[in-house]
Amino acid sequence: MGAPQKTQKQLPLRPAGPDTVAALLRWYEAERRDLPWRYGPRKKADPYRVWLSEIMLQQTTVKAVIPYFQKFVARWPNVAALAAAQLEEVLQQWAGLGYYSRARNLKACADAVVRDFDGVFPRTEVELRELPGIGPYTAAAIAAIAFGEKATPVDGNIERVVSRLFAVQQPLPAAKTEIRNLAATLTPARRAGDFAQAMMDLGAEICTPKNPSCLVCPVQPDCAASARGIAETLPIKAQKLARPSRFGIAFLVQREDGAVLLRQRPEAGLLGGMLEVPSTHWGDASPSKREALRSAPVTTSWMAVPGPVVHVFTHFRLELVVYRAIVPVDASFTLWAEQDRCRWVHRRDLHAQALPSVMKKVIAHGMNAE
Ligand code: SF4
Repeated sequence: MGAPQKTQKQLPLRPAGPDTVAALLRWYEAERRDLPWRYGPRKKADPYRVWLSEIMLQQTTVKAVIPYFQKFVARWPNVAALAAAQLEEVLQQWAGLGYYSRARNLKACADAVVRDFDGVFPRTEVELRELPGIGPYTAAAIAAIAFGEKATPVDGNIERVVSRLFAVQQPLPAAKTEIRNLAATLTPARRAGDFAQAMMDLGAEICTPKNPSCLVCPVQPDCAASARGIAETLPIKAQKLARPSRFGIAFLVQREDGAVLLRQRPEAGLLGGMLEVPSTHWGDASPSKREALRSAPVTTSWMAVPGPVVHVFTHFRLELVVYRAIVPVDASFTLWAEQDRCRWVHRRDLHAQALPSVMKKVIAHGMNAE
């Protein structure tokens, strides 16, 4: 009796390896995305532009990053120019991109490169990781893309492609180490930067989370998940815990001359150094009006604006009720402990302030109630 026939899904595969990488690089040369921080295949990239783009792309889409990247390089074309800028100016230009600790680290990193490395980015992963705001992924991306070092950045796109190429069955996040090790086995000694960017592009354009385009994928012959028909089920993700909610009351104070009261947040922590509409503590339950008014910047007649402002941060959902008041130009805040961190900004100048998205929503919500 002959050996049992194998179905298509059981066919032994050639495991992904150097031939897979060669096919991927050929595809990259023809199909790569044209992005403002990119240089052509086999070309040397500017470490400043690579670093800036990688910091901006953390947790943020390419589409959202492009105008910010262009604005930053037009204003600060190199790391020395960025180091010479004021932090507040950098925060202002960053406003709207979110995850503001990145902007503070951006400035701190530019300062460190100029101070400690004569304005030249170090080229190894180890040295890059010593710089503010540069974690393992970003260090590997800069080392590979800007300097051609044999380093393996693994972002969400690459994680997905690798988990499918090798049909990794362990759920994330536990599978991260296995995926990183598998990705490293593919990284070529030459053209590590092109390989990293090719994997990023493949994940963004072909090996998408839903409906991956396996039929046109350059690495399909070596893809274990595609052969087994399980591509869309990978990577497997461990169930997430529900995001908690926090609540607070924001005080939108307007002067009769049109100025709005803003407060600077502490440098450390969430939205550090950004401006905000003064508010109560953001706690597990909404404060009563009586509790809230103890945190109000001025004693006046407050109007509660109907409907809360809801904003979703990575780790929690925030619900802010907006209280609004109009006060005379000579309104006194002398008893309020926070006044040193406050300033009046005319509403026509609000767009130029380092206001995070949640505070823009609060201001718009309060003013729409006029
Ligand atoms: Fe992704 Fe399909 Fe390509 Fe495999 S063959 S890498 S699942 S697009």
